[in-house]
Amino acid sequence: MIFKRKKLFCRALLLLVLLAAVTAAVLFALRPDLRFIVKHEFGRLSESAELIRVSEKNLNLESMYIDELEQNGCILNQSLMLVNSDNLLPEGFSADTQEYKSSGAVINRCALNAFEKLSEAVRDETGQNLYIMSSFRTAAEQEDILAQEGSDTAMAAGSSEHQTGLALDVYTDGFAGMGFLKSDAGQFVNSECGEYGFIIRYPLFKKKVTGIEYEPWHIRYVGLPHSEIISLEHETFEEYVEGLEIGKFYEYGGYIISRQQGELIRVPDGSEKTVSGDNCGGWIITVKK
Ligand SMILES: [Zn+2]
Repeated sequence: MIFKRKKLFCRALLLLVLLAAVTAAVLFALRPDLRFIVKHEFGRLSESAELIRVSEKNLNLESMYIDELEQNGCILNQSLMLVNSDNLLPEGFSADTQEYKSSGAVINRCALNAFEKLSEAVRDETGQNLYIMSSFRTAAEQEDILAQEGSDTAMAAGSSEHQTGLALDVYTDGFAGMGFLKSDAGQFVNSECGEYGFIIRYPLFKKKVTGIEYEPWHIRYVGLPHSEIISLEHETFEEYVEGLEIGKFYEYGGYIISRQQGELIRVPDGSEKTVSGDNCGGWIITVKK
């Protein structure tokens, strides 16, 4: 009797396992977005991008005042501003924006070339077009969105990085929002945007850090090599900025990176020197050697 029951139990278990396997196979066949997420998340386990600390003795440093950066051959932009509900934009903040190629979309000037390159790559690799649904918003526009949508999905004015013009909500024909991941364009953007200066700003499983659910359509310009490091390390922008120790220098892929405070900063010598405020009282210096 006991033997019979055991046999019955084993058969039921086998049936359940088979049923689960068939359901998973059907789901996978019908849902390219799920297939992408599983493949992408597993792929990340083998990826990393290590920042190497560099001693300042090995660098040729020049001290510069922030208001004299441009005279000293540096580009001052807004690419690395950390904006969230803990780091609000300063009162009277003015985004450095420009319309992207007569598209009607206004984006931060520093992201123009990078977005053009990303769009071209999407077209070349997938045959699909990448469009901007929402980009720069004024504080008043952000307040209107909050009033319409409520605080579950919309950010309060001052805490939305759309007000910097660095955040872009993108889509392709027939695929927007969460559905963006079902398209080849969406999958390309989500796996490759780090190579083009963009990050998925609100990644999967990172709500605890960002306060925001996964948004595969919301890309954020941070520039190279930061986008590559953040993507490969599977970090949030919050974790990346906080991980840069004030006053230290790091090397990655032919670049020197440093986060500093004060009006007088030390900039390493290099072919391309960029400085951006971090919106946390400091500056992030990026120098291409
Ligand atoms: Zn957005």
